[in-house]
Amino acid sequence: MKYYDQHLHTFLSFDSKEIFENYLLNKPPYFVATDHLDLRNPGDNFQDDIPDYDKLAQKLSELEANYPTTFLKGVEIGVVPGQEEQINAYLNDHPYDLKLLSIHQNGKFDYMDDVVLSKDKYKVAKMYFDQMAQVLDTFSGAQILTHFEYGLRRLDFTAEDLEEHFEKELTTILKKVIQKEMALEINAKSFGYYQNANLYRYIIPLYKSLGGTFFTLGSDAHQASDYEALFPEMSGLLKEFGVNFLVTFQKNDRFLTELP
Ligand SMILES: [Zn+2]
Ligand SMILES: [Zn+2]
Repeated sequence: MKYYDQHLHTFLSFDSKEIFENYLLNKPPYFVATDHLDLRNPGDNFQDDIPDYDKLAQKLSELEANYPTTFLKGVEIGVVPGQEEQINAYLNDHPYDLKLLSIHQNGKFDYMDDVVLSKDKYKVAKMYFDQMAQVLDTFSGAQILTHFEYGLRRLDFTAEDLEEHFEKELTTILKKVIQKEMALEINAKSFGYYQNANLYRYIIPLYKSLGGTFFTLGSDAHQASDYEALFPEMSGLLKEFGVNFLVTFQKNDRFLTELP
């Protein structure tokens, strides 16, 4: 199996207008959109953002009739401690093949809001990583931990800062990821737009040193022109660290695929 993008958004997300058909111009053998599920989302006036499952199912059955592509159902789940029960209840009734775990917000603010600029960057990062560790304990079922540096994007952090101040927290997080047999995502927004490749240069060997082997690439596209964005570059980064395969997830199955 060829690797395919495992993180992208469509009009079923609050922050994208893209249609499936535009992504499908790339003729992917497999296709999975991972639209946002974020409850009481500060990035959207504290609304519950839940991708319309019926619309997704209807759209996919329509596309299945017209494209040779195999379609999967995906979702990117933002988790704030306290929301687990409600999220699990929803997921029990709405099964997905691919579930991404993200930390976007803490119930008060999104970690990319301007408000973080007025706070102590070490306190924000500590809060963010502690939340991530906690959620890895209290929320199960996701297969991929996305953009581990989301909460640092508005702050000025170097790999040395992470090593000096947060190695303990990141080690705890990565051990949980490994124990849960989840994959660590290399995210194209992090790598490109937010220029955080160096933070990945720090975390990839740390994860490997703890026994981690599962990696994924995600464009995090919100428009079709970003489909599989920076995949050759991100593959190159993994190769620097001797990573030779990626994983894809389809419900309870995990497949190893070559780096693109
Ligand atoms: Zn995200
Ligand atoms: Zn995303």
